[in-house]
Amino acid sequence: MVKTDILIIGAGPTGLFTVFEAGLLKLKCHLIDALPQPGGQCSELYPKKPIYDIPGFPEVLAGDLVDNLMEQIKSFEPGFTLGERAETIDKQEDGSFIVTTNKGTQHHAKVVAIAGGLGSFEPRKPPIPNIANFEDKGVAYMVKDPEVYRNKKVVIAGGGDSALDWSIFLADVASEVTLVHRRNEFRGALDSVDRVKELKDLGKINLITPAEISEVRGNDNGDLEAVLIRKNNEASEEILLEVDHFIPLFGLSPKLGPIANWGLEIEKNAIKVDNTLDYQTNIPGVYAIGDVNTYPGKLKLILCGFHEATLMCQSAFQRIFPDKKYVMKYTTVGGVTGFDGTKK
Ligand code: FAD
Repeated sequence: MVKTDILIIGAGPTGLFTVFEAGLLKLKCHLIDALPQPGGQCSELYPKKPIYDIPGFPEVLAGDLVDNLMEQIKSFEPGFTLGERAETIDKQEDGSFIVTTNKGTQHHAKVVAIAGGLGSFEPRKPPIPNIANFEDKGVAYMVKDPEVYRNKKVVIAGGGDSALDWSIFLADVASEVTLVHRRNEFRGALDSVDRVKELKDLGKINLITPAEISEVRGNDNGDLEAVLIRKNNEASEEILLEVDHFIPLFGLSPKLGPIANWGLEIEKNAIKVDNTLDYQTNIPGVYAIGDVNTYPGKLKLILCGFHEATLMCQSAFQRIFPDKKYVMKYTTVGGVTGFDGTKK
């Protein structure tokens, strides 16, 4: 069981900055995120887009902001459970909590900070009748570890940036990469489309368009063995392709998901909090910060999430150490330790 002071659900910018503010108070943090990488919307939806309203940064790419946040919290050594969704919460007799993920990983914490943004990103699944039988048996909706595909036969479906980028990347890893898209035109970046076409000409990507995967087939062990590709032409020609892995990349849609069933007060798909004090929810010890919360005048902005995280950590400190008196110090003033473990 993972043990920590503050369990943060969501490793978006708000969750990451919470680690820093908690670290200044010598509180340990562990983060859970359904996505395989930290950064929330910034990493998943717009890593190459510039942001102009982060104080002190006239312009910063969303992906670079996440890298900087990771650098800023490194010395506090946060733990991460990535690629798992927080599913249930159980309050213990001593007021602490156990949060369990969809993969069964248990986390024990004195305080829970929900920084779940728009919710956990769930993959859009293609309407192939028996596809669920092959999940984790050859079918995956996101790439967690590219090494899984080394020297394997992989088919990717989709027409956006993820499908293009992973086809390009895996062309050097897998023994065979087939990209299937239902149109001839792709929605992704033009240079990625050009690169896929170059790799096709070099024989490193097998490009099949316009076409769709209509069926998945397994072997006697229940593992994926082949996919049936139906071309979108008049003859509806079918190709049976032997594969080890099928990765449909049709995008992710956010859903508040299991958190909605935790007994929290919800308003318009967001968690109501006390914004006059500390962003605590109706469950004492459970806070909600960043895009996931709501209160009068709420703005879904990164800098608002940072502010909420800062105040929330002060309250969490009092909850965890009711007898200790906290004296606020600036990070620039003598006596504050934490950035690199040394006194400043
Ligand atoms: P998120 O970034 O949404 O992160 C939440 C994380 O929680 C996600 O990774 C999710 O997978 C995870 N999660 C949720 N539920 C669970 C669960 N049950 N288990 C495990 N993990 C879970 N804001 C600005 O301030 N300036 C801008 O210029 C700006 N531009 C934007 C442009 C675009 C295109 C978009 C889409 C947003 C923009 N925003 C901008 C908004 C900004 O990205 C959000 O305010 C910010 O990402 C919120 O951060 P967060 O950490 O609260 O949530």
